[in-house]
Amino acid sequence: MIFDGAGLTSNLTLHADLCVVGAGAGGATAAMIAAEAGLRVVVLEAGEHLTPGDMSQREEEMFPRLYWDAGARTTRDRGVKVHQGKGVGGSTLHNLNLVKRIPEPLIERWVKERGLRDFGVAEWRALYDEVEALLQVSAVPRDKWNRHNRLLEEGCARLGWRGGGLSHNRTGCIGSGFCELGCAFDAKNNALKVMVPRALAAGAEIVTRCQVIRVLHSGGKVTGVAAVTLDEQTGRHRGELTVKAARVCLAASATATPAILLRSGVPHGGELGARLHLHPAVVVAGDFDEPVRAWEGIPQTYECTEHLQLERDDGPRTWIVPAFAHPVGTAALVPGHGRAHRDVMLRYPHLAALTAMVHDRTRGAVEPRGDLGLTVDYWPDASDRAELSRGMAACARLLFAAGARRVIVPTRPLRVLSPGDSLDGLARWNFGRGDLDVSSVHPMGSAPMGEIEAATFDSHGRHRRVAGLFAADGSILPGSIGVPPQLSIYALGLRVGRAIARG
Ligand SMILES: Cc1cc2nc3c(=O)[nH]c(=O)nc-3n(C[C@H](O)[C@H](O)[C@H](O)COP(=O)(O)OP(=O)(O)OC[C@H]3O[C@@H](n4cnc5c(N)ncnc54)[C@H](O)[C@@H]3O)c2cc1C
Ligand code: SF4
Repeated sequence: MIFDGAGLTSNLTLHADLCVVGAGAGGATAAMIAAEAGLRVVVLEAGEHLTPGDMSQREEEMFPRLYWDAGARTTRDRGVKVHQGKGVGGSTLHNLNLVKRIPEPLIERWVKERGLRDFGVAEWRALYDEVEALLQVSAVPRDKWNRHNRLLEEGCARLGWRGGGLSHNRTGCIGSGFCELGCAFDAKNNALKVMVPRALAAGAEIVTRCQVIRVLHSGGKVTGVAAVTLDEQTGRHRGELTVKAARVCLAASATATPAILLRSGVPHGGELGARLHLHPAVVVAGDFDEPVRAWEGIPQTYECTEHLQLERDDGPRTWIVPAFAHPVGTAALVPGHGRAHRDVMLRYPHLAALTAMVHDRTRGAVEPRGDLGLTVDYWPDASDRAELSRGMAACARLLFAAGARRVIVPTRPLRVLSPGDSLDGLARWNFGRGDLDVSSVHPMGSAPMGEIEAATFDSHGRHRRVAGLFAADGSILPGSIGVPPQLSIYALGLRVGRAIARG
Protein backbone atom coordinates (compact mmCIF):
# COMPACT_ATOMS: atom_id res chain seq x y z
CA MET A 1 0.00 0.00 0.00
CA ILE A 2 1.03 3.58 -0.58
CA PHE A 3 -0.14 6.05 2.09
CA ASP A 4 -0.11 9.82 1.68
CA GLY A 5 1.69 11.23 4.72
CA ALA A 6 0.04 14.62 4.17
CA GLY A 7 -3.07 13.12 5.78
CA LEU A 8 -1.21 12.45 9.04
CA THR A 9 -1.57 15.40 11.40
CA SER A 10 -0.88 13.73 14.76
CA ASN A 11 2.11 11.69 15.88
CA LEU A 12 2.44 8.03 14.87
CA THR A 13 4.89 5.20 15.52
CA LEU A 14 5.27 2.28 13.12
CA HIS A 15 7.23 -0.94 13.60
CA ALA A 16 9.09 -2.69 10.78
CA ASP A 17 11.98 -5.08 10.12
CA LEU A 18 13.45 -2.55 7.73
CA CYS A 19 12.86 1.15 7.12
CA VAL A 20 14.04 2.43 3.74
CA VAL A 21 14.52 6.18 3.41
CA GLY A 22 13.83 7.37 -0.16
CA ALA A 23 12.05 5.54 -2.98
CA GLY A 24 14.41 6.31 -5.87
CA ALA A 25 16.68 4.06 -7.92
CA GLY A 26 18.57 2.58 -4.97
CA GLY A 27 15.83 2.66 -2.32
CA ALA A 28 13.03 1.11 -4.40
CA THR A 29 15.38 -1.69 -5.50
CA ALA A 30 16.64 -2.47 -1.99
CA ALA A 31 13.04 -2.38 -0.69
CA MET A 32 11.92 -4.80 -3.42
CA ILE A 33 14.68 -7.30 -2.61
CA ALA A 34 14.16 -7.09 1.16
CA ALA A 35 10.35 -7.36 0.94
CA GLU A 36 10.59 -10.35 -1.39
CA ALA A 37 12.97 -11.97 1.11
CA GLY A 38 10.16 -11.77 3.68
CA LEU A 39 11.08 -8.65 5.67
CA ARG A 40 8.37 -6.24 6.78
CA VAL A 41 9.44 -3.11 4.95
CA VAL A 42 8.32 0.50 5.42
CA VAL A 43 9.58 3.05 2.88
CA LEU A 44 9.45 6.76 3.71
CA GLU A 45 9.53 9.11 0.73
CA ALA A 46 9.59 12.91 0.94
CA GLY A 47 7.93 13.41 -2.47
CA GLU A 48 4.48 12.40 -3.67
CA HIS A 49 3.17 9.40 -5.57
CA LEU A 50 2.60 10.44 -9.18
CA THR A 51 1.11 8.23 -11.86
CA PRO A 52 1.43 8.66 -15.65
CA GLY A 53 -1.94 10.46 -15.60
CA ASP A 54 -0.42 13.15 -13.35
CA MET A 55 2.35 14.00 -15.84
CA SER A 56 0.81 17.11 -17.43
CA GLN A 57 3.85 17.90 -19.63
CA ARG A 58 3.82 21.48 -18.33
CA GLU A 59 7.08 22.78 -16.92
CA GLU A 60 5.51 25.12 -14.36
CA GLU A 61 3.43 22.25 -12.92
CA MET A 62 5.86 19.35 -13.13
CA PHE A 63 9.10 20.98 -11.93
CA PRO A 64 7.73 21.76 -8.44
CA ARG A 65 6.22 18.26 -8.18
CA LEU A 66 9.16 16.26 -9.55
CA TYR A 67 12.27 18.20 -8.53
CA TRP A 68 13.71 19.36 -5.21
CA ASP A 69 13.36 23.14 -4.89
CA ALA A 70 11.26 23.08 -8.09
CA GLY A 71 14.48 22.36 -10.03
CA ALA A 72 16.28 25.39 -8.61
CA ARG A 73 18.53 23.68 -6.03
CA THR A 74 21.99 25.21 -6.16
CA THR A 75 25.27 25.06 -4.33
CA ARG A 76 25.70 27.46 -1.40
CA ASP A 77 27.26 30.19 -3.58
CA ARG A 78 24.81 29.49 -6.46
CA GLY A 79 27.74 28.60 -8.73
CA VAL A 80 26.29 25.20 -9.72
CA LYS A 81 22.66 24.08 -10.20
CA VAL A 82 22.03 20.62 -8.75
CA HIS A 83 18.96 18.93 -10.26
CA GLN A 84 17.51 16.11 -8.17
CA GLY A 85 14.18 14.37 -8.23
CA LYS A 86 11.59 13.48 -5.64
CA GLY A 87 8.55 11.24 -5.50
CA VAL A 88 7.98 7.49 -5.57
CA GLY A 89 10.62 6.60 -8.17
CA GLY A 90 12.93 9.47 -7.19
CA SER A 91 15.09 10.89 -9.97
CA THR A 92 14.14 7.96 -12.23
CA LEU A 93 10.71 9.59 -12.74
CA HIS A 94 12.18 12.37 -14.84
CA ASN A 95 15.56 11.09 -15.97
CA LEU A 96 16.42 10.52 -19.60
CA ASN A 97 16.58 6.74 -19.41
CA LEU A 98 20.01 6.38 -20.87
CA VAL A 99 21.98 3.48 -19.53
CA LYS A 100 25.72 2.97 -19.22
CA ARG A 101 27.99 0.65 -17.26
CA ILE A 102 30.95 1.95 -15.26
CA PRO A 103 34.15 1.49 -17.32
CA GLU A 104 35.98 -1.53 -15.91
CA PRO A 105 39.36 0.23 -15.42
CA LEU A 106 37.66 2.45 -12.82
CA ILE A 107 36.26 -0.58 -10.98
CA GLU A 108 39.72 -2.17 -10.97
CA ARG A 109 41.19 1.02 -9.53
CA TRP A 110 38.64 1.07 -6.67
CA VAL A 111 39.38 -2.56 -5.85
CA LYS A 112 42.95 -1.48 -5.07
CA GLU A 113 42.45 2.03 -3.73
CA ARG A 114 39.38 1.36 -1.59
CA GLY A 115 39.98 -2.27 -0.69
CA LEU A 116 36.87 -3.44 -2.55
CA ARG A 117 38.28 -6.91 -3.18
CA ASP A 118 34.88 -8.67 -3.11
CA PHE A 119 33.27 -6.07 -5.40
CA GLY A 120 35.30 -6.26 -8.56
CA VAL A 121 34.57 -6.44 -12.26
CA ALA A 122 32.93 -9.89 -12.12
CA GLU A 123 30.47 -8.83 -9.40
CA TRP A 124 29.54 -5.59 -11.21
CA ARG A 125 29.06 -7.47 -14.51
CA ALA A 126 26.65 -9.94 -12.89
CA LEU A 127 24.64 -7.11 -11.30
CA TYR A 128 24.54 -5.15 -14.56
CA ASP A 129 23.26 -8.20 -16.46
CA GLU A 130 20.50 -8.56 -13.90
CA VAL A 131 19.47 -4.88 -13.85
CA GLU A 132 19.54 -4.58 -17.63
CA ALA A 133 17.17 -7.55 -17.87
CA LEU A 134 14.87 -6.07 -15.18
CA LEU A 135 14.74 -2.68 -16.92
CA GLN A 136 14.53 -4.18 -20.44
CA VAL A 137 17.49 -2.15 -21.61
CA SER A 138 18.03 -2.03 -25.36
CA ALA A 139 19.81 0.05 -27.97
CA VAL A 140 17.58 2.80 -29.35
CA PRO A 141 17.05 1.89 -33.04
CA ARG A 142 18.67 4.37 -35.42
CA ASP A 143 15.37 5.18 -37.11
CA LYS A 144 14.15 6.53 -33.74
CA TRP A 145 16.99 9.07 -33.41
CA ASN A 146 15.66 12.61 -33.81
CA ARG A 147 17.27 15.36 -35.92
CA HIS A 148 18.98 16.78 -32.84
CA ASN A 149 20.88 13.55 -32.17
CA ARG A 150 21.62 13.02 -35.86
CA LEU A 151 23.29 16.43 -35.96
CA LEU A 152 25.70 15.23 -33.28
CA GLU A 153 26.29 12.07 -35.28
CA GLU A 154 27.01 14.19 -38.38
CA GLY A 155 29.35 16.47 -36.44
CA CYS A 156 31.30 13.44 -35.14
CA ALA A 157 31.45 11.89 -38.62
CA ARG A 158 32.75 15.10 -40.25
CA LEU A 159 35.43 15.59 -37.59
CA GLY A 160 36.32 11.89 -37.51
CA TRP A 161 35.52 11.83 -33.78
CA ARG A 162 34.45 8.80 -31.81
CA GLY A 163 30.74 8.47 -31.11
CA GLY A 164 27.86 6.02 -31.14
CA GLY A 165 24.24 5.20 -30.31
CA LEU A 166 23.03 4.73 -26.76
CA SER A 167 20.95 2.14 -24.92
CA HIS A 168 17.89 3.10 -22.89
CA ASN A 169 15.41 1.57 -20.46
CA ARG A 170 12.11 2.34 -22.17
CA THR A 171 9.40 0.28 -23.84
CA GLY A 172 6.35 1.62 -25.66
CA CYS A 173 7.99 5.04 -26.00
CA ILE A 174 6.15 7.23 -28.52
CA GLY A 175 8.98 9.77 -28.66
CA SER A 176 6.98 12.63 -27.13
CA GLY A 177 10.21 14.22 -25.89
CA PHE A 178 8.82 15.05 -22.43
CA CYS A 179 11.03 12.67 -20.42
CA GLU A 180 12.34 15.37 -18.07
CA LEU A 181 8.78 16.21 -17.03
CA GLY A 182 7.81 12.58 -16.31
CA CYS A 183 6.28 10.15 -18.78
CA ALA A 184 2.53 10.38 -19.44
CA PHE A 185 2.72 7.16 -21.49
CA ASP A 186 4.21 4.85 -18.84
CA ALA A 187 7.08 4.04 -21.20
CA LYS A 188 9.91 4.42 -18.71
CA ASN A 189 11.05 1.16 -17.19
CA ASN A 190 12.02 2.94 -13.99
CA ALA A 191 11.84 2.41 -10.24
CA LEU A 192 8.14 3.36 -10.15
CA LYS A 193 7.13 0.95 -12.89
CA VAL A 194 9.50 -1.96 -12.25
CA MET A 195 10.59 -2.11 -8.59
CA VAL A 196 7.76 -0.45 -6.65
CA PRO A 197 4.96 -2.82 -7.79
CA ARG A 198 7.06 -5.84 -6.83
CA ALA A 199 7.91 -4.34 -3.45
CA LEU A 200 4.22 -3.57 -2.80
CA ALA A 201 3.14 -7.04 -3.93
CA ALA A 202 5.59 -8.49 -1.39
CA GLY A 203 3.96 -6.43 1.37
CA ALA A 204 6.10 -3.29 1.53
CA GLU A 205 4.34 -0.12 2.64
CA ILE A 206 5.28 3.32 1.34
CA VAL A 207 4.49 6.58 3.13
CA THR A 208 4.78 9.59 0.83
CA ARG A 209 5.27 13.27 1.74
CA CYS A 210 7.21 12.01 4.71
CA GLN A 211 10.70 13.42 5.20
CA VAL A 212 13.20 11.70 7.46
CA ILE A 213 15.09 14.07 9.72
CA ARG A 214 17.40 11.71 11.55
CA VAL A 215 18.43 8.13 12.12
CA LEU A 216 17.87 6.88 15.67
CA HIS A 217 20.74 4.87 17.14
CA SER A 218 22.03 3.82 20.49
CA GLY A 219 24.97 1.74 21.73
CA GLY A 220 26.33 1.18 18.19
CA LYS A 221 22.97 -0.11 16.86
CA VAL A 222 20.34 1.54 14.74
CA THR A 223 16.86 1.64 16.28
CA GLY A 224 14.79 3.45 13.64
CA VAL A 225 14.19 6.87 12.13
CA ALA A 226 12.40 10.09 13.06
CA ALA A 227 10.45 11.79 10.29
CA VAL A 228 7.86 14.49 9.70
CA THR A 229 4.92 14.47 7.34
CA LEU A 230 4.55 17.38 4.96
CA ASP A 231 1.58 19.57 4.09
CA GLU A 232 0.34 19.02 0.53
CA GLN A 233 0.17 22.74 -0.32
CA THR A 234 2.93 24.39 1.66
CA GLY A 235 5.39 21.51 2.08
CA ARG A 236 5.60 22.46 5.76
CA HIS A 237 5.83 20.06 8.71
CA ARG A 238 2.45 18.53 9.76
CA GLY A 239 2.82 15.45 11.95
CA GLU A 240 5.65 13.35 13.36
CA LEU A 241 6.27 9.78 12.32
CA THR A 242 8.69 7.43 14.05
CA VAL A 243 9.59 4.08 12.56
CA LYS A 244 11.12 1.59 14.99
CA ALA A 245 13.25 -0.87 13.05
CA ALA A 246 16.42 -2.86 13.71
CA ARG A 247 17.48 -2.22 10.12
CA VAL A 248 17.50 1.12 8.31
CA CYS A 249 18.59 1.65 4.72
CA LEU A 250 19.29 5.22 3.66
CA ALA A 251 18.59 5.84 -0.03
CA ALA A 252 17.78 9.55 0.00
CA SER A 253 20.41 10.39 -2.68
CA ALA A 254 24.01 11.54 -2.57
CA THR A 255 23.05 14.87 -1.05
CA ALA A 256 20.36 13.91 1.47
CA THR A 257 21.89 10.68 2.80
CA PRO A 258 25.08 12.30 4.20
CA ALA A 259 23.00 15.24 5.47
CA ILE A 260 20.74 12.86 7.45
CA LEU A 261 23.73 10.95 8.85
CA LEU A 262 25.58 14.11 9.90
CA ARG A 263 22.41 15.54 11.47
CA SER A 264 21.98 12.27 13.39
CA GLY A 265 25.46 12.32 14.90
CA VAL A 266 26.24 8.88 13.52
CA PRO A 267 29.98 8.14 13.97
CA HIS A 268 32.02 7.97 10.79
CA GLY A 269 35.59 7.69 9.56
CA GLY A 270 36.04 11.21 8.17
CA GLU A 271 34.91 10.91 4.56
CA LEU A 272 31.19 11.37 5.17
CA GLY A 273 29.77 14.30 3.22
CA ALA A 274 33.25 15.41 2.15
CA ARG A 275 33.81 13.70 -1.19
CA LEU A 276 30.81 14.72 -3.26
CA HIS A 277 31.19 14.47 -7.03
CA LEU A 278 28.70 16.24 -9.31
CA HIS A 279 29.75 15.55 -12.91
CA PRO A 280 29.57 19.31 -13.63
CA ALA A 281 28.24 20.18 -17.07
CA VAL A 282 27.91 23.16 -19.40
CA VAL A 283 25.75 23.70 -22.48
CA VAL A 284 26.56 25.21 -25.90
CA ALA A 285 23.90 25.85 -28.58
CA GLY A 286 24.08 25.90 -32.36
CA ASP A 287 21.73 27.92 -34.56
CA PHE A 288 20.86 26.03 -37.77
CA ASP A 289 19.14 27.23 -40.94
CA GLU A 290 16.91 24.17 -40.89
CA PRO A 291 14.31 23.69 -38.16
CA VAL A 292 15.82 21.16 -35.73
CA ARG A 293 12.76 20.95 -33.45
CA ALA A 294 15.00 19.44 -30.81
CA TRP A 295 12.16 19.05 -28.31
CA GLU A 296 10.58 16.31 -30.40
CA GLY A 297 11.54 12.65 -30.19
CA ILE A 298 13.69 10.65 -27.80
CA PRO A 299 16.34 12.79 -26.09
CA GLN A 300 19.98 11.67 -25.84
CA THR A 301 20.28 8.71 -28.19
CA TYR A 302 23.79 9.52 -29.46
CA GLU A 303 27.04 10.26 -27.59
CA CYS A 304 30.43 11.68 -28.54
CA THR A 305 33.21 9.92 -26.62
CA GLU A 306 36.18 11.47 -28.44
CA HIS A 307 37.17 13.35 -25.26
CA LEU A 308 36.37 10.62 -22.75
CA GLN A 309 39.10 8.09 -22.03
CA LEU A 310 38.40 6.75 -18.57
CA GLU A 311 40.73 3.82 -19.05
CA ARG A 312 43.66 6.27 -18.61
CA ASP A 313 44.30 8.16 -15.37
CA ASP A 314 45.48 11.21 -17.30
CA GLY A 315 43.09 10.89 -20.26
CA PRO A 316 40.47 13.45 -21.33
CA ARG A 317 37.36 13.32 -19.14
CA THR A 318 34.54 14.96 -21.09
CA TRP A 319 31.39 13.26 -22.34
CA ILE A 320 29.25 15.08 -24.92
CA VAL A 321 25.56 14.45 -25.61
CA PRO A 322 22.64 16.49 -26.94
CA ALA A 323 20.79 18.33 -24.18
CA PHE A 324 17.70 20.26 -24.98
CA ALA A 325 15.45 22.12 -22.60
CA HIS A 326 11.77 22.94 -22.86
CA PRO A 327 10.93 26.63 -23.41
CA VAL A 328 10.97 27.83 -19.78
CA GLY A 329 14.24 25.98 -19.10
CA THR A 330 15.81 27.42 -22.24
CA ALA A 331 14.67 30.94 -21.44
CA ALA A 332 16.21 30.60 -17.98
CA LEU A 333 19.49 29.36 -19.43
CA VAL A 334 19.89 32.10 -22.04
CA PRO A 335 21.65 35.01 -20.30
CA GLY A 336 20.57 38.60 -20.58
CA HIS A 337 17.17 40.14 -21.16
CA GLY A 338 15.25 42.32 -23.56
CA ARG A 339 15.96 42.23 -27.28
CA ALA A 340 19.13 40.07 -27.09
CA HIS A 341 17.27 37.41 -25.10
CA ARG A 342 14.24 37.61 -27.38
CA ASP A 343 16.40 37.24 -30.50
CA VAL A 344 17.83 33.96 -29.22
CA MET A 345 14.43 32.64 -28.11
CA LEU A 346 12.91 33.44 -31.52
CA ARG A 347 15.39 30.94 -32.97
CA TYR A 348 14.18 28.20 -30.55
CA PRO A 349 12.97 25.79 -33.27
CA HIS A 350 16.35 26.10 -35.03
CA LEU A 351 18.55 25.51 -32.00
CA ALA A 352 20.50 22.37 -31.16
CA ALA A 353 22.27 22.17 -27.82
CA LEU A 354 25.14 19.97 -26.68
CA THR A 355 26.30 19.44 -23.13
CA ALA A 356 29.86 18.70 -22.05
CA MET A 357 29.88 16.76 -18.78
CA VAL A 358 33.09 16.14 -16.85
CA HIS A 359 34.24 13.07 -14.90
CA ASP A 360 35.28 15.30 -12.01
CA ARG A 361 38.24 15.32 -9.64
CA THR A 362 36.71 18.04 -7.43
CA ARG A 363 35.46 16.89 -4.06
CA GLY A 364 32.55 18.91 -2.78
CA ALA A 365 30.80 18.78 0.57
CA VAL A 366 27.28 18.35 1.92
CA GLU A 367 26.02 19.37 5.32
CA PRO A 368 22.60 19.49 6.95
CA ARG A 369 20.79 22.83 7.25
CA GLY A 370 18.21 22.79 10.04
CA ASP A 371 15.92 19.77 10.28
CA LEU A 372 14.77 19.67 6.66
CA GLY A 373 17.41 21.39 4.56
CA LEU A 374 20.91 20.74 3.30
CA THR A 375 23.76 22.78 1.86
CA VAL A 376 26.03 21.72 -0.99
CA ASP A 377 29.48 23.29 -1.36
CA TYR A 378 31.10 22.65 -4.72
CA TRP A 379 32.96 24.62 -7.33
CA PRO A 380 34.94 22.78 -10.02
CA ASP A 381 38.69 22.94 -9.35
CA ALA A 382 41.12 24.35 -11.93
CA SER A 383 41.61 21.02 -13.72
CA ASP A 384 37.84 20.42 -13.99
CA ARG A 385 37.25 24.00 -15.16
CA ALA A 386 39.92 23.54 -17.82
CA GLU A 387 38.20 20.32 -18.90
CA LEU A 388 34.81 22.10 -19.05
CA SER A 389 36.24 24.92 -21.20
CA ARG A 390 37.83 22.43 -23.58
CA GLY A 391 34.47 20.65 -23.61
CA MET A 392 32.67 23.86 -24.63
CA ALA A 393 35.12 24.38 -27.47
CA ALA A 394 34.61 20.75 -28.55
CA CYS A 395 30.80 21.27 -28.54
CA ALA A 396 31.26 24.38 -30.69
CA ARG A 397 33.44 22.43 -33.16
CA LEU A 398 30.83 19.68 -33.38
CA LEU A 399 28.01 22.16 -33.97
CA PHE A 400 29.92 24.02 -36.71
CA ALA A 401 30.89 20.69 -38.29
CA ALA A 402 27.20 19.74 -38.32
CA GLY A 403 26.35 22.98 -40.16
CA ALA A 404 25.49 25.56 -37.48
CA ARG A 405 25.55 29.09 -38.89
CA ARG A 406 26.45 30.45 -35.44
CA VAL A 407 27.23 29.01 -32.06
CA ILE A 408 25.85 30.54 -28.89
CA VAL A 409 27.79 30.06 -25.68
CA PRO A 410 25.49 31.06 -22.80
CA THR A 411 28.13 33.01 -20.92
CA ARG A 412 27.52 36.38 -19.27
CA PRO A 413 27.73 38.36 -21.51
CA LEU A 414 26.57 36.02 -24.27
CA ARG A 415 29.27 34.84 -26.72
CA VAL A 416 28.20 34.34 -30.31
CA LEU A 417 30.70 32.62 -32.61
CA SER A 418 30.68 32.38 -36.40
CA PRO A 419 32.13 29.62 -38.57
CA GLY A 420 35.89 30.11 -38.87
CA ASP A 421 36.24 31.97 -35.53
CA SER A 422 39.09 30.74 -33.37
CA LEU A 423 37.94 28.52 -30.51
CA ASP A 424 41.27 28.74 -28.67
CA GLY A 425 40.10 31.48 -26.31
CA LEU A 426 37.02 29.47 -25.32
CA ALA A 427 39.07 26.30 -24.85
CA ARG A 428 41.45 28.15 -22.49
CA TRP A 429 38.87 30.29 -20.69
CA ASN A 430 39.34 30.27 -16.92
CA PHE A 431 35.78 31.11 -15.98
CA GLY A 432 34.58 32.17 -12.56
CA ARG A 433 31.38 31.75 -10.57
CA GLY A 434 28.47 33.41 -12.31
CA ASP A 435 30.22 33.65 -15.71
CA LEU A 436 28.05 30.84 -17.05
CA ASP A 437 25.58 28.20 -15.91
CA VAL A 438 27.24 25.07 -14.56
CA SER A 439 24.80 22.34 -13.69
CA SER A 440 24.70 18.81 -12.35
CA VAL A 441 22.28 15.92 -12.64
CA HIS A 442 24.58 13.23 -11.20
CA PRO A 443 25.49 13.80 -7.53
CA MET A 444 27.45 10.81 -6.22
CA GLY A 445 30.20 9.51 -3.96
CA SER A 446 29.48 11.61 -0.84
CA ALA A 447 29.77 8.57 1.49
CA PRO A 448 31.93 6.30 -0.69
CA MET A 449 32.04 2.61 0.11
CA GLY A 450 35.35 1.03 0.97
CA GLU A 451 37.06 -1.50 3.21
CA ILE A 452 39.24 1.26 4.64
CA GLU A 453 39.10 3.09 7.98
CA ALA A 454 37.94 6.42 6.53
CA ALA A 455 34.97 4.87 4.72
CA THR A 456 31.44 5.15 6.12
CA PHE A 457 30.01 2.05 4.41
CA ASP A 458 31.58 -1.28 3.44
CA SER A 459 31.41 -3.03 0.08
CA HIS A 460 27.85 -4.26 0.82
CA GLY A 461 26.55 -0.83 1.87
CA ARG A 462 26.73 -1.77 5.60
CA HIS A 463 27.67 1.04 7.96
CA ARG A 464 31.10 0.24 9.35
CA ARG A 465 30.34 1.49 12.87
CA VAL A 466 26.58 1.19 13.50
CA ALA A 467 24.96 -2.25 13.28
CA GLY A 468 21.79 -2.50 11.20
CA LEU A 469 22.46 0.72 9.24
CA PHE A 470 22.87 0.54 5.44
CA ALA A 471 22.94 2.87 2.43
CA ALA A 472 21.91 2.06 -1.15
CA ASP A 473 22.07 5.16 -3.32
CA GLY A 474 24.47 7.33 -5.28
CA SER A 475 26.25 8.39 -2.09
CA ILE A 476 28.07 5.05 -1.75
CA LEU A 477 29.51 4.99 -5.28
CA PRO A 478 33.26 4.89 -4.64
CA GLY A 479 33.97 8.07 -6.63
CA SER A 480 33.07 9.83 -9.86
CA ILE A 481 32.07 7.19 -12.40
CA GLY A 482 32.27 9.35 -15.55
CA VAL A 483 29.04 7.97 -17.02
CA PRO A 484 25.35 8.37 -16.05
CA PRO A 485 24.78 6.55 -12.78
CA GLN A 486 21.24 5.14 -12.70
CA LEU A 487 22.18 1.62 -13.80
CA SER A 488 24.96 1.42 -11.21
CA ILE A 489 22.68 2.70 -8.45
CA TYR A 490 19.99 0.13 -9.28
CA ALA A 491 22.81 -2.44 -9.14
CA LEU A 492 23.82 -1.19 -5.69
CA GLY A 493 20.16 -1.49 -4.62
CA LEU A 494 20.23 -5.20 -5.53
CA ARG A 495 23.53 -5.82 -3.74
CA VAL A 496 22.65 -3.87 -0.58
CA GLY A 497 19.09 -5.30 -0.53
CA ARG A 498 20.59 -8.80 -0.44
CA ALA A 499 23.02 -7.86 2.32
CA ILE A 500 20.08 -6.51 4.36
CA ALA A 501 18.06 -9.66 3.76
CA ARG A 502 21.00 -11.79 4.96
CA GLY A 503 20.85 -9.85 8.22
C1 LIG B 1 17.23 15.64 -15.33
C2 LIG B 1 17.97 14.37 -15.01
C3 LIG B 1 18.23 13.46 -16.03
C4 LIG B 1 18.95 12.29 -15.73
N1 LIG B 1 19.16 11.38 -16.74
C5 LIG B 1 19.83 10.24 -16.46
C6 LIG B 1 20.02 9.26 -17.46
O1 LIG B 1 19.56 9.39 -18.61
N2 LIG B 1 20.73 8.14 -17.14
C7 LIG B 1 21.25 7.96 -15.89
O2 LIG B 1 21.92 6.95 -15.67
N3 LIG B 1 21.05 8.85 -14.91
C8 LIG B 1 20.33 9.97 -15.15
N4 LIG B 1 20.09 10.86 -14.15
C9 LIG B 1 20.59 10.56 -12.80
C10 LIG B 1 19.81 9.43 -12.11
O3 LIG B 1 18.43 9.58 -12.30
C11 LIG B 1 20.18 9.49 -10.62
O4 LIG B 1 21.59 9.40 -10.51
C12 LIG B 1 19.58 8.35 -9.81
O5 LIG B 1 18.19 8.27 -9.95
C13 LIG B 1 19.95 8.58 -8.35
O6 LIG B 1 19.46 7.49 -7.59
P1 LIG B 1 19.41 7.60 -6.00
O7 LIG B 1 18.74 6.38 -5.52
O8 LIG B 1 20.78 7.94 -5.49
O9 LIG B 1 18.54 8.90 -5.70
P2 LIG B 1 17.10 9.34 -6.24
O10 LIG B 1 16.66 8.51 -7.39
O11 LIG B 1 17.18 10.81 -6.43
O12 LIG B 1 16.14 9.00 -5.01
C14 LIG B 1 16.28 9.60 -3.75
C15 LIG B 1 14.88 9.72 -3.15
O13 LIG B 1 15.00 10.05 -1.77
C16 LIG B 1 14.00 10.99 -1.44
N5 LIG B 1 14.45 11.74 -0.25
C17 LIG B 1 15.43 12.66 -0.17
N6 LIG B 1 15.56 13.09 1.11
C18 LIG B 1 14.65 12.40 1.83
C19 LIG B 1 14.31 12.39 3.21
N7 LIG B 1 14.97 13.14 4.11
N8 LIG B 1 13.30 11.57 3.62
C20 LIG B 1 12.64 10.78 2.73
N9 LIG B 1 12.92 10.76 1.41
C21 LIG B 1 13.93 11.55 0.97
C22 LIG B 1 13.91 11.87 -2.68
O14 LIG B 1 12.69 12.57 -2.70
C23 LIG B 1 14.05 10.83 -3.79
O15 LIG B 1 12.80 10.32 -4.18
C24 LIG B 1 19.39 12.04 -14.40
C25 LIG B 1 19.10 12.94 -13.38
C26 LIG B 1 18.40 14.10 -13.68
C27 LIG B 1 18.14 15.07 -12.56
S1 SF4 C 1 9.92 10.31 -25.04
FE1 SF4 C 1 9.11 8.28 -24.54
S2 SF4 C 1 9.79 7.87 -22.40
FE2 SF4 C 1 10.04 10.09 -22.81
S3 SF4 C 1 8.13 11.01 -22.05
FE3 SF4 C 1 7.81 10.60 -24.26
S4 SF4 C 1 6.90 8.53 -24.38
FE4 SF4 C 1 7.74 8.80 -22.30
